[in-house]
Amino acid sequence: MSGVSGSRIRPLYPRAMPSEQLHELVSMRLRQAGQRYTDKRRSLVDILAECERPVTIHQIIEREPSIPQSSAYRNISVLEDARAVTRIVTSGDYARFELAQELTEHHHHLICTICGEVSDFTLTSAFEDDLDKRLEKASREQGFAARDHRLDVLGTCARCDSA
Ligand SMILES: [Zn+2]
Ligand SMILES: [Zn+2]
Repeated sequence: MSGVSGSRIRPLYPRAMPSEQLHELVSMRLRQAGQRYTDKRRSLVDILAECERPVTIHQIIEREPSIPQSSAYRNISVLEDARAVTRIVTSGDYARFELAQELTEHHHHLICTICGEVSDFTLTSAFEDDLDKRLEKASREQGFAARDHRLDVLGTCARCDSA
């Protein structure tokens, strides 16, 4: 049986976790980092949970104009330091942010190298198992103990491709 037969790409939306449980986990991570879960941080987490894809600070403010830009930057970076939020580096000028994988689901990114848009996708568990086995084997040859992986696909999104 070939693991690669399960290589179909599935968009990751909506997020699986109920918001109560999500807030509890974020709150725990912040506590461990010596930070409080303020209303502003809570509303940033709500926005990220509602978004279908990783977003820029600008997109967050568009959604919630009551958050001043400086506050959005500061609080996103606190959430990032507490490992509740992950920054995705693209070739564009603006980083994208999403909830940490441990709070959502293991997934991968399609990154458009023209406009910088990022979308999430998941692979089947058969594909993931196969990938892990191969990566483990390749890593072991370097004396490296693999625990997890990140895989981003670079290319052109549908909008940029047709432009
Ligand atoms: Zn694009
Ligand atoms: Zn994976």
